Amino acid sequence: MPSYQFNVVGYIQSPYKQKFAIPRQPGLIAEATGYLVLEEDYSDEAILRGIDSFSHLWLLFVFHETADKGWSPMVRPPRLGGNARKGVFATRATFRPNPVGLSVVKLEGVERKNGKLMLKISGIDLLDGTPIIDIKPYLPYSDALPNAAGGFADAAPQTAMTVSFAEQASVFCAQQSQYPDLQVFIEKVLKQDPRPSYKKQREGEQSYGMTLYNYNIKWTVNGEHNHVTEIHQLPE
Ligand code: SAM
Repeated sequence: MPSYQFNVVGYIQSPYKQKFAIPRQPGLIAEATGYLVLEEDYSDEAILRGIDSFSHLWLLFVFHETADKGWSPMVRPPRLGGNARKGVFATRATFRPNPVGLSVVKLEGVERKNGKLMLKISGIDLLDGTPIIDIKPYLPYSDALPNAAGGFADAAPQTAMTVSFAEQASVFCAQQSQYPDLQVFIEKVLKQDPRPSYKKQREGEQSYGMTLYNYNIKWTVNGEHNHVTEIHQLPE
């Protein structure tokens, strides 16, 4: 069987520092903003000429965090509560024969900072450090198919989850001037109910924690309500 090798063209800088709580697809949380920092061999404005006329880009990336975990022909999509099995090629599962992911993201701009050429992007579903193997413009005339059938994932996932913030948590968010959307971002992450399916069936109050940017966020879940109890900055 032939095999091909690809070069990493850049890496993602993302607020998502762990897999837990990343949305299952891009575009679900517009406030999830990050950077695609191009590697030195591709750090040339010529390579991006014309890209700013596109609002969205396709990113092809490596599921680097799980790439060594193998794959199975059948997977249990979280969307189906983890109970039904589907063929891996009928899903967007991370455990695949080739650990390649595909996400459409919004292009916010092109920047050069500290000598590095980077694309500012939003609506991402990518872990910090994700290696990118290709970038292509999104072409609405060909890529947007309003009549396409969406199988078992026919519409964006909906939950009835609500979110409240303890005073310390909202004051903390308001003080982070570099991330003015921080509270809305956290709220949207929690509204999608990132808990694994088996924990959603549990009774009583449960406590959780996650890292976004360099913030540790703690919250409790009771029924369909999330309460953010405290947020702290992690040491550099
Ligand atoms: N939009 C992509 C696709 O369809 O190929 C990704 C879909 S996959 C279901 C989304 C999940 O991938 C996220 O919830 C996150 O947990 C995981 N993920 C994101 N970046 C990753 C990485 N670099 N390595 C492993 N898993 C990653």
